[in-house]
Amino acid sequence: MEKENLFKNRTLIKDVFSKKIKTVELSGWVHNTRDLSKVKFLLLRDRTGIIQITGVKSKTPKEIFQDLEKIPRESVIYIKGEVVDSKQAIGGKEILPSELIIINKAETLPIDVTDFSKTELPKRLDNRFLDTRRKPIQAIFKIQSTISMSFREYFVNKGFIEIQTPSIISSSSEGGTELFEAKYFEKKVYLAQSPQLYKQMLAGAIEKVMTICPVWRAEKHNTIRHLNESRQMDIEMAFADSKIVMKELEEVVKYIIKKIIEKNPKELEILKVNPKIPKTKYLTFKEVATLMKQHKINIDKDDLTGEAERKLEELFPNSIVFVYDWPLEGKPFYIMPKDQDKNAKLSEGFDAIYKGMEISSGGQRIHIPELLETRIKAKKLKIKDFKSYIDSFRFGSPPHAGWSIGLERLTMLILNLPNIREAVLFPRDRDRLTP
Ligand code: ATP
Ligand code: MG
Repeated sequence: MEKENLFKNRTLIKDVFSKKIKTVELSGWVHNTRDLSKVKFLLLRDRTGIIQITGVKSKTPKEIFQDLEKIPRESVIYIKGEVVDSKQAIGGKEILPSELIIINKAETLPIDVTDFSKTELPKRLDNRFLDTRRKPIQAIFKIQSTISMSFREYFVNKGFIEIQTPSIISSSSEGGTELFEAKYFEKKVYLAQSPQLYKQMLAGAIEKVMTICPVWRAEKHNTIRHLNESRQMDIEMAFADSKIVMKELEEVVKYIIKKIIEKNPKELEILKVNPKIPKTKYLTFKEVATLMKQHKINIDKDDLTGEAERKLEELFPNSIVFVYDWPLEGKPFYIMPKDQDKNAKLSEGFDAIYKGMEISSGGQRIHIPELLETRIKAKKLKIKDFKSYIDSFRFGSPPHAGWSIGLERLTMLILNLPNIREAVLFPRDRDRLTP
């Protein structure tokens, strides 16, 4: 028999439990086996559930009965059999097999993939293809899928257009972070650190744009909150200022968490987390500085420290804390000085802190070419590197604002994961390039 034909009448395990079917053909992985000599059990798993296959010495065809205990865990098999009610089996039903085909036999497993696995993160990541067979791991990525879907849904419903921006960029750098270099025919190019300049140019034409895209940062740190390849959820809006986009950020994070609660109750239960719709708190950078001084916590003159971010969570639990009127020096060149005043010390930039960590940076951008050039020079970057970007503001350009949320960062914080690597399928950090 050809292998494809095996799956023609495939029934999903959840349907065995919910529908009245007498004979079924199932395909999936061997979750576990148990041998009680006269009775043998095999737990079969597919993406929808787990069901017990029961072999009885006196009834089951001999070869099948012998095979049942011998198939290694995680092997892929096909089973045809009869569905019968069973008080002992999970879900109240079991399968009495009449046909068994081992489609692909698993070798000795390099990690423990049971529900009780204590395998440590690095080893799990070395074997991510197996690690992702586990329920809690699948739960994380089902929820991450809800996060990105709800992000899209929220903004598409508000008239935003999803855009795709280039990952290969020429010499121009936004500054603020190291870039990865690559060879591009005869030229040297870089991997994009963000879609920033492109989304701004497009907001100047399409008004409301959003994107979920990978970005690369050649930062050498080894922390629980940084990756060298991560995904950003970005928006950019024309005819908007920082207040308007902070409100959008507040609303979309609430929407995302509401959707997770609605769509993923099972996954939340598996992960034992109970996310709440956050409150919000708006504070100026100066107010935060004063608060931190009162609590004897250090901050830099133009940035918050990790300690300060954690203190904000302690002071305003379960809140998205917006810190605005950020010192201009601490923000990238494209952030608008406060009140469009080129001598301003403050900016129209902000950070959003959630559960003691930055989830987003954003603000109003500069749409005035001369001011942009002043700021690029002040940051010691080269005007020639930004020519087409600056030029894009010379032909009628609306005031605009936007922000960026790290997808993995947000996943990690909503689910209380101890390390951002838990929130990315195949992490890229300084030491890890495989699998
Ligand atoms: P941080 O201060 O945490 O290093 P950042 O200010 O350098 O972050 P931004 O350039 O503001 O980061 O990027 C926007 C968002 O992308 C951040 O708020 C964060 O959620 C996420 N992010 C930034 N850098 C990383 C990284 N190295 N790995 C994973 N997510 C990141
Ligand atoms: Mg930031």
